[in-house]
Amino acid sequence: MELHGFDTDHETMVRSVMEHVLHRMGNQPPLTPAPTAEQLAAAVGPTVTPEGLGASEALRIYTDHLAPASIACDHPRYLAFVPHAPTTAANAFDMVVGPSSQCGSTWMDGAGMIHAENEAMRWIADLAGLPESANGCFVTGGTMANLSALVTARDAARRAREAHSLPQPARWAVVCSASTHSSVASAARVMDVDVIPAELDHELRLTGEAVATAIGGRADGVEVFAVVATAGTTNVGVIDALGSVADACDAAGSTWLHVDGAYGGAGLVAPSVRHRYDGIERCDSLVIDPHKWLFSPFDCAALVYRDPEPARIAHTQHAGYLEPIIDKAVYNPCDHAHVLTRRARGVPFWFSLAVHGTDAYRDAVEHTLAVARAGRDLVAAADHLELLLEPELSVVAFLRRGWHANDYQAWSDRLLADGTAMLTTTTFEDEPAMRFCVVNPRTTVDDLATVLATLA
Ligand SMILES: *Cc1c(COP(=O)(O)O)cnc(C)c1O
Repeated sequence: MELHGFDTDHETMVRSVMEHVLHRMGNQPPLTPAPTAEQLAAAVGPTVTPEGLGASEALRIYTDHLAPASIACDHPRYLAFVPHAPTTAANAFDMVVGPSSQCGSTWMDGAGMIHAENEAMRWIADLAGLPESANGCFVTGGTMANLSALVTARDAARRAREAHSLPQPARWAVVCSASTHSSVASAARVMDVDVIPAELDHELRLTGEAVATAIGGRADGVEVFAVVATAGTTNVGVIDALGSVADACDAAGSTWLHVDGAYGGAGLVAPSVRHRYDGIERCDSLVIDPHKWLFSPFDCAALVYRDPEPARIAHTQHAGYLEPIIDKAVYNPCDHAHVLTRRARGVPFWFSLAVHGTDAYRDAVEHTLAVARAGRDLVAAADHLELLLEPELSVVAFLRRGWHANDYQAWSDRLLADGTAMLTTTTFEDEPAMRFCVVNPRTTVDDLATVLATLA
């Protein structure tokens, strides 16, 4: 078979790959623990060879060995971390994006793809109550979104000082809390900026008061360029006091407010919890990961700016060979994040939204919230379990009375080994704890009951 081209052999190969995909879409693979690297290498044998294995042998190795060695995160009893539940429509369109050879970087190349992404981005901006000017870029994940937003914020802060002929500070700092996602500390390391921790209140929320204290207590020579608030913490699903944090940012002199809703931002679509996000409309930038709770395949994070212009200034790459695409009159997603060539990864999400309509998304998110609330009731009703806090979104955190870290670990290992469920341990206020997170509309209350029954 030739490397490029499309003859009957290529067509047969594509059909067999499509058959594999159709089978996968219609059948949920079981949960299985990862093999060791040695086991897998021994089972598979050499795959990258000078002559090639041929399509059917390579696909056989994938189907027989590689696919079963990875966990399908859309299993309804995958309850660890933040799970994943792409729609069939979004998955189907993921197959279109690569082979279309359409690059999602610039309007000149990818106008159609970018129009679709902008429609989906607009829906997210509207959910958050952001103005017409809002737009951004679909990036690989919350980690890249947080980094890109903070790079924009620091650049804007530097330029503002320049504009007022103020000297640049010795150090820049970002204010966040102990429950801020680890990717913010990672971004700070990449950017070589300091992190100033702000205290959480008794409900584990970041408040404006704590932000003001953190900003006020900064060392000499340090300036705060951004505050990161979380709309749905990864560990327990708490939404920070967004309105009061926004007040503190204003009081500090229009400090950039970045809201990390990578997991929890999807709850904006659910009327039963929408009021908890009040104040989110005042953010300067926001991230929501459709690959978490908005049913898109990996990898897809929506980074949206109230005003994309500072992002364009901060991120646009300049070079002679790029001059033809640098065009302020059109919208180039690649100018708004730390990226150049990009997969139009928002398009599968757009396709599913276009197919099903936004009401279906509202109903699906509400459904997962209702299942999580029923799971909370099961925990609260069990004498041997202790609910750690009232769930605000779809994470339920709890203790098994009398258990230590090794008991939890042994239990979660056993559940995965026998294919019952995928749960991982966590810590809550420095103590080992369990949590489950429901984002999959196929997760049932019975699934949760089955898992909890194994803790008796
Ligand atoms: C998951 C998560 C992230 C990181 O997102 P990735 O898509 O895994 O890079 C950042 N912030 C929060 C609050 C998250 O839940």
